[in-house]
Amino acid sequence: MQQRSSHYRASGLVLCLMSVTRDITERIRIEDSLKQKERYQRALLDNFPFAVWLKDTESRFLSVNTGFVRIFGAKDPAELIGKNDFDIAPHDMAEGYRADDREVMASRQNKSVEELILTEGERKWFETVKAPVLGDNGELLGTVGFARDITERKATDEEIKRLAFYDSLTHLPNRRLLRDRLKHALASSTRSGKPVAVLFIDLDNFKTLNDTLGHHVGDLLLQQVADRLTGCVREGDTVARLGGDEFVVVLEDLSNALYEAATHAENVGEKILVALNQPYDLAGHPCASTPSIGIALFAEPETTIDELMKRADVAMYQAKDAGRNTLRFFDPEMQAAVAARVALEADLRDGLEQAQLLLHYQVQVDGTGRVTGAEALVRWQHPQRGLVSPAEFIPLAEETGLILPLGDWVLATACHQLVAWARQPETAHLTLAVNVSARQFRRKDFVRQVRTILESSGARPQQLKLELTESLLLEDVEGIIAKMNALKALGVSFSLDDFGTGYSSLSYLKRLPLDQLKIDQSFVRDILTDPNDAAIARTIVALAKSLGLAVIAEGVETEAQRAFLASAGCHACQGYLFGRPLPTEAFGELIRRA
Ligand code: C2E
Ligand code: MG
Ligand code: MG
Repeated sequence: MQQRSSHYRASGLVLCLMSVTRDITERIRIEDSLKQKERYQRALLDNFPFAVWLKDTESRFLSVNTGFVRIFGAKDPAELIGKNDFDIAPHDMAEGYRADDREVMASRQNKSVEELILTEGERKWFETVKAPVLGDNGELLGTVGFARDITERKATDEEIKRLAFYDSLTHLPNRRLLRDRLKHALASSTRSGKPVAVLFIDLDNFKTLNDTLGHHVGDLLLQQVADRLTGCVREGDTVARLGGDEFVVVLEDLSNALYEAATHAENVGEKILVALNQPYDLAGHPCASTPSIGIALFAEPETTIDELMKRADVAMYQAKDAGRNTLRFFDPEMQAAVAARVALEADLRDGLEQAQLLLHYQVQVDGTGRVTGAEALVRWQHPQRGLVSPAEFIPLAEETGLILPLGDWVLATACHQLVAWARQPETAHLTLAVNVSARQFRRKDFVRQVRTILESSGARPQQLKLELTESLLLEDVEGIIAKMNALKALGVSFSLDDFGTGYSSLSYLKRLPLDQLKIDQSFVRDILTDPNDAAIARTIVALAKSLGLAVIAEGVETEAQRAFLASAGCHACQGYLFGRPLPTEAFGELIRRA
């Protein structure tokens, strides 16, 4: 660097020229390198995928990177220098930042996750880290901060959580979240002594709706049920979907007095009954649905989640047994009944293996009183309990699948009985009706099974009549018709048992290759005194006639009942008036005497 100065005399004449030259190469070099360093630092900061800022001890911005500018919406970083949070953020937010800075300057690192509404109204989530900046001697110079946009990660986390803990159809908590909530509820109940109530809710006949109107409509029903359930409980209570048509409601913070807690649970249950009984509009399909509700209360600390759920489930089945669309409480007597059922199942398994089952035969007569055939009715000769009625063990056998080996045995025994009768002139003409449960009939190889038994026993198919029930028609009617036709081709005939008590769809009835309708004994019992029963019996007879089917009445106990039925056009009968179900020997005896 050269500096020139001229020295003048008073006269203004230049005397001499002085020139000083200083070497500043080093300074320029240092300055250049500093500038370069700054540029590097700038580039480093600006290319950071975070917002970065430096503040002084008064929380004024000393420096910000372009990331910060981008996120918080200024034009260029220089614009923000010297400003503070109050200049760029709403007042309450700025106050929060100021408080954070103070905390950081008290030499603690501060980490937070927060949701921000940006200038364009866009919502974003940020993870922020702030730290104090200290001088060489440990004096406080200001703070440094980083903010990272985690909106996407947050959304993914939320989605993962939603999938793991919520049912995707109804958005209710799923089984997993329910267990978690129950765990907390039971723990706090144990501390506070306040009971927790669990309501198990199952929709009646949901399967039928799903099968007839389609899964899409079924889904709509489930969604509307979920909304209605949520509307029946307080905030803080849980409504969850276990899957299928099963929902669970957990009521917390109930009264310490067990009776009051139970009353509250019952009131909520009643409210749910009313709400779910309202008509539904499922994408234009008007529809009705009802629930069965089981309620269990948690009051003793030793009860586990599984026990509690099981109890509510047991109570729900009690509600189903009581005719559905109702609610039931769990009580210890129920539990005893459950235990007895488990024992009965084990016993029945043994009973099947140890040949404790036997068939009784009940006569069927025509209008002249002549015996035309019999119905085979299974009995269980239990070593301790004595003779057990099928009404007690058939439903259990159906539930457990034992009905399959049991049904095979009944069918085989009945066919052998037909062969034995064929050898005696007085019994050779008899037909034998055998009850076939829905589950048994639905099995894939049922037709082959019957054919094999007929062939191996040598029984005449024309003398075998299978009694089906309406419950069979709840699913896959086409498949059932096909099976019935295959069996009919063998010569076997069909009777529809307990007709009128179940799901009587006339359109199906027309298409089924049936031979006979059986008027249920519940209509016969009061046929003389109850005009409704009399009308139903008459209607069934007329229906059978118009469909070209035979008709038989069961449970005929008196001559007056028989006469009434005959006057209505039903001549074939079965009932105590003609004979009780009897063991083989006694049945043979009855026929010989007749
Ligand atoms: P179901 O097929 O409707 O049989 C008629 C029931 O009415 C029989 O009861 C019979 O004993 C009873 N009964 C007959 N006449 C009279 C009467 O005059 N008055 C009264 N009060 N009752 C009468 P049971 O033997 O207890 O059988 C009950 C049900 O168990 C049967 O009803 C049937 O659904 C089922 N069942 C019986 N045996 C079998 C079987 O081998 N397989 C299957 N799957 N179910 C069976
Ligand atoms: Mg029957
Ligand atoms: Mg019947």
